[in-house]
Amino acid sequence: MSTYQNTLAHAQALDAVDPLRSFRNEFHFPQHADRDVLYFTGNSLGLQPKAAADALKQELDDWARFGVEGHFHAKHPWYSYHEELTPSLARLVGALPEEVVAMNQLTSNLHFLMVSFYRPSGKRTKILTEQRPFPSDTYAFASQIAFHGGDPAMDLVEVQPRDGEHTLRTEDIIAKINELSEELALVCFGGVNFYTGQAFDMAAITQAAHAVGATAGFDLAHAAGNLHLKLHDWNVDFACWCSYKYLNSGPGSVAGAFVHQRHLGPKPAQGLPRNEGTLSEKAASPAGSLSGDPTEVYLGNGLPLFAGWWGHDKNERFKMERTFKPMPTAEAWQVSNAPVFSMAVHRVALEQFDRAGISQLRAKSEQLTAYLAFIIAEVAQHSGTRLEVITPNDPMQRGCQLSILAHGHGKALFNRITERGVVADWREPNVIRVAPVPMYNSFEDVYRFGVILTECLSASH
Ligand SMILES: *Cc1c(COP(=O)(O)O)cnc(C)c1O
Repeated sequence: MSTYQNTLAHAQALDAVDPLRSFRNEFHFPQHADRDVLYFTGNSLGLQPKAAADALKQELDDWARFGVEGHFHAKHPWYSYHEELTPSLARLVGALPEEVVAMNQLTSNLHFLMVSFYRPSGKRTKILTEQRPFPSDTYAFASQIAFHGGDPAMDLVEVQPRDGEHTLRTEDIIAKINELSEELALVCFGGVNFYTGQAFDMAAITQAAHAVGATAGFDLAHAAGNLHLKLHDWNVDFACWCSYKYLNSGPGSVAGAFVHQRHLGPKPAQGLPRNEGTLSEKAASPAGSLSGDPTEVYLGNGLPLFAGWWGHDKNERFKMERTFKPMPTAEAWQVSNAPVFSMAVHRVALEQFDRAGISQLRAKSEQLTAYLAFIIAEVAQHSGTRLEVITPNDPMQRGCQLSILAHGHGKALFNRITERGVVADWREPNVIRVAPVPMYNSFEDVYRFGVILTECLSASH
């Protein structure tokens, strides 16, 4: 039935016709026994683009040469550095340029966006998320609830899989949204769950959330650079992501944020009729027309936000005025000046995404991950081992990552493949995550992974 073969020749033939194969040469691969490791952890930390060093050097040189004048005279002026990233980011997540901004770090962005989009009032207090979200997200949700005087044990709700299943059904997510209905303030899911690798139907979840009067946001840490996203068309209220996973921009590099167009601009948002709460009167005043009293809750674009000078109208930023006048774009949420060194790496990494194109990456990714699923099934069959892939088999419900439950092998198996030069990862309690990324992994990598897995399984018998 499958057209795939578990042979080196077949894997190499697939690589030979891969239009993206040359991108592999643009990355540094860690070495193991004098050859490139089999790197399958682009979902945790993407590899370093070779162009990163020069991009960083440029900023160091400009700093040495210009000092403070680099804000305007650097090759890539620091004052507007983040603006250079905007068009690429917009293409990457399916947004209008005014809807995206590179800023801060991921969990920080989640908090800043929840300030605007999680506004519990009356009995509408709950946040709905997926089972087992990334721990940082759980901490952010729970602390936001507590910050508003709520009880995380009551107000943070996770959709659970059915008995005997590992992943969620969209119909169950929607049923839960409808069940919570007017108690629901915010639905915030990962675009792809970090543990199971399940990709969620963001359009359907957003629509269901809006239908009950809740807002919908997504943490795209495992989706940005992995899935073909259409945040604007899906009507998502907000989203955030990091740049060091699939976006190859280096450890702790600058993150990204999306705010839908309908929440931008000087008018109060139309899309948020509910839970304006005590802020409704303030929300009615056009942004920028507030008094100069800094004890006021600052309003950006009709929504409350935590403001900083980099969110202020860029034409008047250096007038250093007392009253906050927000940018009419997602940049209103930007609080601090741009972290240029991490943005330098992000810029060259995004430029690679522009050249490769997310549609083309996604097309390769579907094939590469299908090949990995085939190889895992082959290994399981020939070694007589149960290797259960808990990631959905439907390509629409996954990105490139497959999560393997290795019954009876687990950690020992993981350690053995690691010793052989496979870089995958282990996630408690018992999953091995393997993510062949289309930007730099090859079909041959996947084939070789199968060979090592087979050897390690037979060694354990
Ligand atoms: C990786 C990841 C994080 C990490 O957050 P940082 O703020 O970048 O340290 C948070 N949430 C999710 C879903 C992640 O996958």
